[in-house]
Amino acid sequence: MTTIAGTRPAAKPDIDPKPSTLAQQILVGIFVGVPMIALLAAIPFAWGWGLGWHDVIIAAVFYWLSGFGITVGYHRYFTHSSFKAKPGLRVALAVAGSLAMEGPVITWVSDHRRHHKYSDREGDPHSPWRYGDNARALAKGLLWAHMLWLFDPNQTSQEKFSPDLLADGKIKKVDRMFGPLVAVTLLLPALIGGLWGMSWHGAITAFFWAGLVRVTLLHHVTWSINSICHTFGDTDFEARDKSRNVSWLAIASFGESWHNLHHADPTCARHGALKGQIDSSARVIWILEKLGWAYNVRWPNEARLTAKRTADATRPLGGMTGRNATTGQRDGKKDTVESTASDNAVTQADRAAA
Ligand SMILES: [Zn+2]
Ligand SMILES: [Zn+2]
Repeated sequence: MTTIAGTRPAAKPDIDPKPSTLAQQILVGIFVGVPMIALLAAIPFAWGWGLGWHDVIIAAVFYWLSGFGITVGYHRYFTHSSFKAKPGLRVALAVAGSLAMEGPVITWVSDHRRHHKYSDREGDPHSPWRYGDNARALAKGLLWAHMLWLFDPNQTSQEKFSPDLLADGKIKKVDRMFGPLVAVTLLLPALIGGLWGMSWHGAITAFFWAGLVRVTLLHHVTWSINSICHTFGDTDFEARDKSRNVSWLAIASFGESWHNLHHADPTCARHGALKGQIDSSARVIWILEKLGWAYNVRWPNEARLTAKRTADATRPLGGMTGRNATTGQRDGKKDTVESTASDNAVTQADRAAA
């Protein structure tokens, strides 16, 4: 960006000048470690210790709610502006994402925008290729990309990567409410389980399965996008990094494992854009659009995606793919003009973030 006088404004650093404190790192350790110990404990207990159908239902509902909060909310909406949302939905998405216990919304978005800016190059907060590409370096890199990066004292600068969210009072409020929302995501399942079964036993098993175990599962699925989906899988599209499409993670990750398409076209609302690729997050956005709560959705653009296919790619593009436009409507000149304007807006925001 150049000013009229031709001088460049001082660039903001990518990394916050204040490193994280030991107390903050210990907190991350508790958030990551305690649910994980529960998951490990769950394996021997699963058949003998109180997994009832109440627990399964409550866990599934919270997995969906917090999972879509991450994929539709934190990721496709807040990080990449794949669609616009009515004010109520905007706040709801920030709250739902917080329930995944993956950090406050502005922290998550800032890290992820930095990931896209540098993907698999120096500056990427979580590339599995950080230590090199021999087997030993990659094993170490996978562990780093999966979870060890969370303990890196170098924190992404929110001023640089998320000025739009810092300027939004309501989102800042949700961001600051992260602590209480962690309590909600762990204790609300217990409350529901207790009332449903009218017993302390119901509360305890729901706390364990729908609180701790559910949080851990979602943590590892989300982290697998950073580790597995940057290492193993198919490249159907040209991307400048090592992002991959991984089919076996598609259902658990709500479509986020079509990660190669995502890096090839980051603002696209549908990641599983090829025929047969399941992407439940795109379906949720489609429903929100039908309800009128989401609008200006950037559905896959056929011409744009075709230009990015790798030479050996054969699978055709799937549904919800507009011929001329990036919005949900498939025809009309107005659409193309609007989408070009919003393309430019996003590109400008990307540049501002860069
Ligand atoms: Zn990625
Ligand atoms: Zn992304």
